[in-house]
Amino acid sequence: MQKQNVVVVGGGLSGLFAVNKLAKNKNLNITLIEGSPSCGGLLNCFQSESGVYYDQGTHFASKTGVDSIDDILFDETDFENNWYQFSYLNSGNFAFNKWTFDTQVVDIRNLPDCEYHKALGQLISAETITTSDTFSEYAKSHLGEYLYHELFKPTVYKLYGDDVDLLSIQPRVGYFGLNRVVALDDITTESLKKIPKYDEKLAYSSSKYYSEKITTQECYLYPKDKKGIQFWIDKMHERAVKNGVNILTSTEIKKLDVSKKKVTSIITSDGKIYSSDLVIWTVPPSILLKLSNIECSFSYKPLLRTANLFHYSFDKPLFNCKNHYVWNWDKNYRSFRLTFYNNFTGCTAHDSRVTVEVLSSPEESQRISSEEILKELRDMEIIGEEHHLTDESKQVIHSTFPVPDKKLQKLSNEIRGKVEAELENVIIAGRHSGSVWLQSDVIKAINHEIEARIF
Ligand SMILES: Cc1cc2nc3c(=O)[nH]c(=O)nc-3n(C[C@H](O)[C@H](O)[C@H](O)COP(=O)(O)OP(=O)(O)OC[C@H]3O[C@@H](n4cnc5c(N)ncnc54)[C@H](O)[C@@H]3O)c2cc1C
Repeated sequence: MQKQNVVVVGGGLSGLFAVNKLAKNKNLNITLIEGSPSCGGLLNCFQSESGVYYDQGTHFASKTGVDSIDDILFDETDFENNWYQFSYLNSGNFAFNKWTFDTQVVDIRNLPDCEYHKALGQLISAETITTSDTFSEYAKSHLGEYLYHELFKPTVYKLYGDDVDLLSIQPRVGYFGLNRVVALDDITTESLKKIPKYDEKLAYSSSKYYSEKITTQECYLYPKDKKGIQFWIDKMHERAVKNGVNILTSTEIKKLDVSKKKVTSIITSDGKIYSSDLVIWTVPPSILLKLSNIECSFSYKPLLRTANLFHYSFDKPLFNCKNHYVWNWDKNYRSFRLTFYNNFTGCTAHDSRVTVEVLSSPEESQRISSEEILKELRDMEIIGEEHHLTDESKQVIHSTFPVPDKKLQKLSNEIRGKVEAELENVIIAGRHSGSVWLQSDVIKAINHEIEARIF
């Protein structure tokens, strides 16, 4: 039987998962084309000029709970030596100028008495408008006016920028747990959560308490290797090559040949031709249409957010010696998420590393200085006067995610529709597909697509 040719474009997490899954089928010739010098995409590590490694976005690998997927993502041999394992991630948050160490959900009991009572009253009496399709209407009706103005609206500005029309944003911040707040003690919360209306808006004060209540046993992992999360990528790359996948890096695609609504071959800039029975496309689909010479006239250009990553090492342990990472929901700070490496590697030595993520527009990015972020670290009491920097870098990643407004949804649907109508042997997958972003969603979606077409 003649082998089928599958070409996977993009060697990020999606592409590497895809080729490792496909390699289980011995009737396939598999080629992966990656434009950069190495695979990994957003999961590559960042090395500072003085040689210190940091992650550049996602820090933890997580098991999905689906054995057939996890077997592809992780090589179980030497697991203990290679990975730190956690049954839950110890996340905290900073809001209303106060720390909450036990949960990423904002604790409104940190508000001054008068404001707390006002916020609690509005929260309990607010009736969520579930049919609402505007962000502000949903948020106000869900948590009340006070929390909308003091927490939700500033957070949406922090995530998506103050230049967007708030009224057009869907209530997506639920992703970050902001549709719920801690407002009461856990016993009262437990009783109230039996009523669906309150279950939707109240959270327990401790993520440990919450984890004990849920039945799924999640497993989070961090590599023991000095390169951090890139170790995961390197291992997947190695396994793919061992299983016969042809991986091309630093390779630019020049053109796609299309015949009878099928991509029949992919031509790279060095003139090589790769025949394709199936293409798995994990890079922006607009490039696919352009390289296939398919005419399209999409007028809307999405606003893309830039991630500014401030990587620091200090000569002493940081004052927050508990959380793996924290969200900063305080409206007076630019920082958005902070990751404390030593709190999950268990290392108490002098090189205390932290990565601070700040989101911005591309133009605003240049105006965010390291001095400003170091001041925030001092104001949050993560470092004090006695801490000295031993390493420092600012890393800028443009085009991380688009502002999720209605026009964007329409554009993604139009591009997908066009690809489906014009190219029958192409699977659009990964974060660029516009429908998934988080690593486990990205992996489950591509797994589903491959099962439907091949297995
Ligand atoms: C700052 C930040 C924080 C994040 N935090 C989290 C988190 O906490 N939890 C979580 O689950 N997820 C998080 N994510 C998202 C996570 O990183 C993504 O889900 C995941 O990396 C998506 O992988 P992908 O392969 O779809 O895309 P990518 O990682 O973007 O990979 C695409 C690959 O395609 C290559 N490529 C691009 N164009 C071409 C071309 N024309 N030809 C060939 N190759 C090309 C790129 O070089 C890249 O290697 C975060 C992302 C960022 C940026």
